[in-house]
Amino acid sequence: MPARQKYRLRGRSDREILREAEPGKRYVDRDSGEEMRVVGAVLPLAPSPSDLPYTVENLRLCGCSLEQLVQKDLNDCPHCGRRLPAVER
Ligand SMILES: [Zn+2]
Repeated sequence: MPARQKYRLRGRSDREILREAEPGKRYVDRDSGEEMRVVGAVLPLAPSPSDLPYTVENLRLCGCSLEQLVQKDLNDCPHCGRRLPAVER
């Protein structure tokens, strides 16, 4: 799967969605029919091995002495290379 940059898109009603997008292109929300404008890129910036936005609920401590926050869908800590345990759901 190619790494694609995700963007935050916002409509007139302040509704926001996250999706892959090309800046400058027009997108219309399929549910509300309102036009969505790209308002920002979602971290991590592509390319990244993670599909998750860099937000608190998608992060956990890697468990090493560096105590870095890493995305939950990663198999290895990008900071120390340590294998991460499986996520409990
Ligand atoms: Zn680590």
